[in-house]
Amino acid sequence: MDCIFCEIAKGNLNTEFIYEDDKVVAFHDLNPQAPIHFLVIPKEHIKSANHIDEDNLIVSHIFKVIKELANSMGFAEKGYRVINNCGEDGGQTVEHLHYHVLAGRNLQWPPG
Ligand code: AMP
Ligand code: ZN
Repeated sequence: MDCIFCEIAKGNLNTEFIYEDDKVVAFHDLNPQAPIHFLVIPKEHIKSANHIDEDNLIVSHIFKVIKELANSMGFAEKGYRVINNCGEDGGQTVEHLHYHVLAGRNLQWPPG
């Protein structure tokens, strides 16, 4: 299987990690859409949000990590946005579950 985010999670692309533990890694998005824009991904290959088993606790762990990073990086108070793009119409371009975290500017709603 040829998955760029699996390669990143294994450390094979020498991507700088903002955070790493046994279950997830976080790293800056290559094409940032806000002053702060990083991705949090499971190390396990899960194709999309639509492929998460109901007994998998990865999503609660990811949100715990996001909360900790928001506090340690200093943007928790001003606020931030967490985005998951799922499938073709959802705008998902990399088929490995990932959560975008954007902060550092006033984000508009609704998205395009
Ligand atoms: P999505 O459109 O939700 O699937 O988001 C995929 C995101 O991954 C995009 O925002 C890309 O800029 C980002 N991306 C793709 N390849 C890399 C990479 N090698 N390192 C960091 N971010 C990447
Ligand atoms: Zn993968």
